[in-house]
Amino acid sequence: MALFSHSKIGTFTDCPLRYKYRYIDKVETEIERSIEAFMGSMVHEALEKLYKDLRFMKVDTLKELLDWYNNHWEKNYDDKILIVRKEFSAEDFRKTGEKCITDYYEKYKPFDQMKTVSIEQRILLDIFDDKRYMLQGYIDRLATDGNGTFEIHDYKTAGTLPSDDKVNEDRQLALYSIAIKKMYPYAKKIYLIWHYLRFNQEIKIEKNDDELENLKIEIVKQIDEINSAKEYPAKESILCDWCEFAPICPKKKHLFRTEQMEPERFSADDGVKLVTRYAELTAEKKEIDDELKSVEKKIYAFSEQEKVENIAGKGVVARIWTGKTFRMPNSGDEERDKMENIIRESGIWEDFSRLDTFALSKAMQAGKLNSDLIKKLAPFVQKDIVRRIYLKEKD
Ligand code: SF4
Repeated sequence: MALFSHSKIGTFTDCPLRYKYRYIDKVETEIERSIEAFMGSMVHEALEKLYKDLRFMKVDTLKELLDWYNNHWEKNYDDKILIVRKEFSAEDFRKTGEKCITDYYEKYKPFDQMKTVSIEQRILLDIFDDKRYMLQGYIDRLATDGNGTFEIHDYKTAGTLPSDDKVNEDRQLALYSIAIKKMYPYAKKIYLIWHYLRFNQEIKIEKNDDELENLKIEIVKQIDEINSAKEYPAKESILCDWCEFAPICPKKKHLFRTEQMEPERFSADDGVKLVTRYAELTAEKKEIDDELKSVEKKIYAFSEQEKVENIAGKGVVARIWTGKTFRMPNSGDEERDKMENIIRESGIWEDFSRLDTFALSKAMQAGKLNSDLIKKLAPFVQKDIVRRIYLKEKD
């Protein structure tokens, strides 16, 4: 049985195709990692060093710690690191990390709030103790007061502070607390603590047994879904900007490739030429359609005003046809239901009702029909590939 982790499950939820590239195909890409991830790992490693030294009674000074962080940054930084937000430089991120460490240091020195049990501890959680659902993860820091209270600390360098709901929904630390409960059965209290370093803020919660049981059920459901997946569709989102597979993903690769091009090469690219022409034609067509509608309205007005039904043009005649149609209430309207009842009661329903193939096709696409019925309908249903082009402004 495959080993899962919080981030592996999260990757599948965010984008199944990214999951496939990363965990099934194990594709190597030219993008190593984002600057945000790099900065996060440099800050984590600096705090790891701080607590490792503390185990030998050595309290690093802030200067020592920052010097270590800056040296470590310099040694590990390379040009493959992706900077998405071009308005910020690598130096801006380095300084942000420095500030995170400084604030943390000032807030918690001399770091004697609890005793550190482990740093970067690998957690292996066997949900039903039968090796079917195995999860692994790493706890940034596990601490205890020695009296049955444990704290699971996690450092975050994200630029946003989560809402209360998001904190309560977070599964990572809660999963770790299940593992800690198993490792230390005498644990009376296990707190989950996130340090949002860019906000110098600590968020602390505790999960009860029911919440942890529900979490297990949720995780198992998700693992089952991943294990039974047959398709891995690409799911576009804001996260694509930070995705290491953008250079090969069908949703992003042309955008990624053309972004790197000089203006001349960009304009000569076949895709760029086609889409630019398509956008021009679409704009022209819209202009023509709008004008057509406006002239049509004026012709009707002219016909009414002049009381004429045939209007001469250069080489053409416009014949104005006026007829009557009956408009019925839309489906879903209360009036529509009443009307349908009257028709049913009159015994003529069969004469006027027919299968709503559009609704049926939608239900099939959404997987709302049972498999037996789908099998019976299959010989009558032809699968067509539908394609449409949607234009949107570039960000
Ligand atoms: S670029 Fe976006 S859609 Fe493509 S694999 Fe990455 S996250 Fe998924």
